Amino acid sequence: MTQSGSYDVNAIRREFPILKKSINGYPLVYLDSAASAQKPLSVIEAQREYEAHFHSNIHRGVHTLATQATEAFESVRTKIADHINAAQREEIIFTSGTTDGINLVAGTWGRANLNEEDTIVLSRLEHHSNIVPWQILATEKRFKIEVIELNEDGSLDESSLNEKLALNPKMVAISHVSNTLGTVNDVKRITALAHSVGATVIVDGSQAVPHKTIDVTDIDCDFYVASGHKMYGPSGIGFLYGKHSLLEQMPPWRGGGEMIASVSFEEPTTFNIPPYKFEAGTPHLSGVVGLGAAIDWLNSVGLEKIAAHEKSLIEYASGELMKIDGMKLIGTAPAKASVISFLVEGIHPSDIGTLLDGLGIAVRTGHHCTEPIMTKLGIPGTVRASFAAYSTKAEVDALVAGVNRAVKLLR
Ligand code: PLP
Repeated sequence: MTQSGSYDVNAIRREFPILKKSINGYPLVYLDSAASAQKPLSVIEAQREYEAHFHSNIHRGVHTLATQATEAFESVRTKIADHINAAQREEIIFTSGTTDGINLVAGTWGRANLNEEDTIVLSRLEHHSNIVPWQILATEKRFKIEVIELNEDGSLDESSLNEKLALNPKMVAISHVSNTLGTVNDVKRITALAHSVGATVIVDGSQAVPHKTIDVTDIDCDFYVASGHKMYGPSGIGFLYGKHSLLEQMPPWRGGGEMIASVSFEEPTTFNIPPYKFEAGTPHLSGVVGLGAAIDWLNSVGLEKIAAHEKSLIEYASGELMKIDGMKLIGTAPAKASVISFLVEGIHPSDIGTLLDGLGIAVRTGHHCTEPIMTKLGIPGTVRASFAAYSTKAEVDALVAGVNRAVKLLR
């Protein structure tokens, strides 16, 4: 709402053109940033500038524009590597997003390494995109999938974690932050435990990158995936970090231009080195440029400041929502990032979502692509409010007033 310390949320909001919008006659209250964050002008402008002045295809041309486009593209690879503290820029592969990155790892590392006698471990917290690619591969390769269960509060059940690791899995695939419950997993500790039993670790970081400083060297995970559109950047672009030694051993994934060393009908076709081996075809070039601008934007505000701002909003919102009769917060783990899921006794979540939309308030309702959580909790879905750098206390107040109105009208 107003300035707190050096964090001027009003100044931040002015950078996001969409936040000036009215929806259904009310000022937009955008509480759906976990689904997709809005973009600051600097990201929108960077993409426009690229398209207007620098666009050409990359890597293949000798002309000036091709060189400029290639430099713009490759500089973002370096920027991402620095941003997440990768050991080298060649460990960053551009993907179309988190889903694409996980499918890449399943389709290459997974297909090459997982067989009938093997087990992999996921958690019940996972988004469908960190479940289904493994299930599809498991029907072909016939390995087993084991699931780490949750405590009541939505944190990982430690005894279940230990039990599953005792099965000596070959892979542990785990989210850094749950998109539905907000639970923050201690992925550094889980990675160390998984490595101690010989497992390779992939971390789904899509809900962590907008809220936390990521250090893949410190976490020591083998793979880390994220999406541009969750971190104030464009959709259709993301990245996969992979340890170079693993990327070198992995077979290619999609075939096409750029991923080859040489193509022949007479000799075996040979492949490029990582990361290019995994980047067949022309990528989303302006998306990469926009992602670079999003990282610059995050760094200009400061992830620590954003996290502190969001933490205070989550605490305030949780307290205010709990004053509502029949309110149940779903997901109350001690380590929680900026998502609040809730149910109100006697009212279907989608009815609350529809009523809030009528007031200009955008929340998400449903299973949030995490049906296994809903099955376990025996609920159809939740209402989810998610917060970002531009969210305000006044927006929390609008949400609470809206839910109170839903209680009066719908119960
Ligand atoms: N993993 C998590 C935890 C998510 O929240 C999401 C999107 O909501 C995804 C994966 C999939 O991301 P994308 O649709 O950008 O590939």
